[in-house]
Amino acid sequence: MNPGEGARRLGEGLWGISVPSDTLAPWTSTHAYVVGDAGVGWLIDPGGAGTEADAAVDALLQAAGVRDLKGVLLTHTHRDHVAGVASVLRRHGPVAVWAHPAGLARLPSGVGGRPLGPDRRLVAGPHFLVTVETPGHASDHLAFWLPDARALVAGDLVAGRGSTWVGTPDGDVGDYLASLARAAALDPVLVAPGHGPVRSDGRRVLDEARVHRLERERAVWDGLAAGPASLARLREHVYPGLDPAAHDLAERSVLAHLRKLMRETRVMHLGTDAEGPFARAPGA
Ligand SMILES: [Zn+2]
Repeated sequence: MNPGEGARRLGEGLWGISVPSDTLAPWTSTHAYVVGDAGVGWLIDPGGAGTEADAAVDALLQAAGVRDLKGVLLTHTHRDHVAGVASVLRRHGPVAVWAHPAGLARLPSGVGGRPLGPDRRLVAGPHFLVTVETPGHASDHLAFWLPDARALVAGDLVAGRGSTWVGTPDGDVGDYLASLARAAALDPVLVAPGHGPVRSDGRRVLDEARVHRLERERAVWDGLAAGPASLARLREHVYPGLDPAAHDLAERSVLAHLRKLMRETRVMHLGTDAEGPFARAPGA
């Protein structure tokens, strides 16, 4: 799905559209989805704010035939997924906004939310969806499983192409890999991500994300082969020749890997702050 394209029916009870948003490169939009049928539906992740974003969300609701919006569901509270919520409430509300309990305090100002925990079953016309707790990219991340369509509305658990960002302070690679395993256990056919192409080889996109993350972990580990290394040196090892403007994001990603390796007692933190140095643990 690309900005400017119409809403698309993706499967049994599932529609999507690309909504312009202020997001991380290479993306320029966030996908919004409707789950429902027979005139009722849930809106997942309204995406960006502004006239074009409003028009995209309205086109999505119209394509899905939603006359009665049951509520707004959020995969997580990053700005590029929630900036449009207030406008949706003004135009289609009042309806409840449901988010992971950890995300309720991070909603846009003036937007109240209700807590949505894991394994909640929400009815949507003749269909239903189930919440799946999927922290890692964000600590307040949920995915939505549609058994009838065998589809996972994945948020930023994966990107349809390339990799999703996992970094400190909110991201955690250990949590992320566990979330991928939880999603893979559902055996989805369709994976509908927050950014990039919707994938009909669902198991494969989840597996690609796992392999990619383990390759990055390997690169961090190899960066410690010659002895203790600072965070900046590890960043240069894992992401050589990076534009300085991207150093902060890259270092926070390396830290999310180090956090997992330290929890597994394979890596030690020898310094006093995030700069390190870091070292392999004896015998690891
Ligand atoms: Zn995000």
